[in-house]
Amino acid sequence: MSLRQILRQHREEARLRRQLRSTLRQAGIAEPTDMLEVCERLSAIWPVPIVAAPFDLPAHGPFGLTIRYAPDPRDEAIYILYQRVATPLHQQHVVAHELGHVLGGHPLDPVEDLSEIDPNGSTGTLRRTSYNSRVEREAETIATVLLGRTAARDGVTLPSNGARDHRLRRVLGDKVEWL
Ligand SMILES: [Zn+2]
Repeated sequence: MSLRQILRQHREEARLRRQLRSTLRQAGIAEPTDMLEVCERLSAIWPVPIVAAPFDLPAHGPFGLTIRYAPDPRDEAIYILYQRVATPLHQQHVVAHELGHVLGGHPLDPVEDLSEIDPNGSTGTLRRTSYNSRVEREAETIATVLLGRTAARDGVTLPSNGARDHRLRRVLGDKVEWL
């Protein structure tokens, strides 16, 4: 990555953070806030409700999944499904990341029938939209802001002090399968 690209990326992220902070102020969210609470408050200012719910996602699949679902055309909502068996801290991060896709205006897969998400099967068929790394980075930037001081304190998004851990995290980071 060239210095010019790094600077551009830095500027884009700064713009994204400013935009997000303004949205959060509008929704009356003071950080740090529980992510389920964030979903609830954002719903008040978002065109459709944002509902986060624990779900039995396939064991080897992603920890979070965001879909648009409308059992009735007037009942459309955005559903953030997060892995039921994950730790609470991990769940917070997953919901924050998925909210990053929502707030970033990334395309969300419409789901006609909830049985398409089969805990015993694969969510592979749901991945009609495959996000590129720029979009994933954007979602993570938003997640970092949403998690705010909580994330910093718990070290969720901060690289570890150890150089080896840092390197490992960087390598694994590319392989982490977010949806
Ligand atoms: Zn993602």
